[in-house]
Amino acid sequence: MRVEHIGEGEPELAILGAVHGDELCGVHAIEALLDEDPDVQKPVKCIIANEPAVEQHVRYIDTDLNRVFPGDPAAETYEPRLAYRLQAELEGCTTLSMHSTQSDGRPFAIVDETGELAETICPQLSVAAVVEAADEFPHALVHHVDVVEVECGLQGTEQAADNAEQLVWEFLAATGALSDRSEPSERALPVLSLKRLIPKPDGGSYEVHVENFDRVEKGAVVATVDGEEITATESCYPVLVSEHGYDQRFGYTAELIDQW
Ligand SMILES: [Zn+2]
Repeated sequence: MRVEHIGEGEPELAILGAVHGDELCGVHAIEALLDEDPDVQKPVKCIIANEPAVEQHVRYIDTDLNRVFPGDPAAETYEPRLAYRLQAELEGCTTLSMHSTQSDGRPFAIVDETGELAETICPQLSVAAVVEAADEFPHALVHHVDVVEVECGLQGTEQAADNAEQLVWEFLAATGALSDRSEPSERALPVLSLKRLIPKPDGGSYEVHVENFDRVEKGAVVATVDGEEITATESCYPVLVSEHGYDQRFGYTAELIDQW
C-alpha cells in the first residue's frame, strides 16, 4: 500500500485507487494529482491500495479486497491483512474511491446510504447517477468507512482515466480542499437503490436492450439470450447491466428513491 500526503497536517480527506489491481484509472488520477501537487486548503491522503495486484495486472492476489472488510491482521491470505491496514488508514477520513467497470462508460457514484456525506459530495461530481449499495456484499468498503465510490468508466480505457482525474478535482472542490474549477450544472441527478439481480441464464449469445439508469417499464424486453426474451417483471432502473460483465447476472434492477 502506497500512502502519500498533499498539504500540511493530519488529513481528513483521502483519495483511494487500486482497491482492484486491474482498474488503473484511480492510479492514473492519483499520480496526476501528486504530479500537480496543488495548493490544498485541507490536507489530503492519497492511497494506492493493492500495489502487488497492480504490479501483476490482476484484480487481487488471494481474494477480492472489496469483499473482506474490516479485514484481519492475522489472516493467512494477503487481502484481509491489507483490508485491516487500509481501513485503519481511512479512519477519520472522507474518502473518494475510484473503480472502473465493464458495464457502462458513464461515471456513477456508489454510497452506503443517502446521508449527508453523499448529498454534499455527489451532486458536485460528474456522475450519471448515485446508487445506494445493496446489502449483498456486507464486507465491501462502502459499508465500513465514510466513502463515495465512483465507477469512472470502462475498464482499461483512457476515458476512464480522464474521468477519474476530473472526479478527483470535483471531490476536492466539493469537500473544500480546492476552489471549484467548474460551473455547477443544473440537473436532476437520479438517486437509485439496488433491488435485485437480473439473472443471466446459460446461453451462446447475449444482447442487452436497455440503458443503465434509464427507466424500464414493466413488460419491456431487458435482454435476449439466444433470441429468448427476458422481460421486466416490474418497472425499474437498470444498473451495472452489460452483456459480458458478469457470468451469472446481467446486472441489477434499482428503484428511483430521490433526485438531487
Ligand atoms: Zn473495482
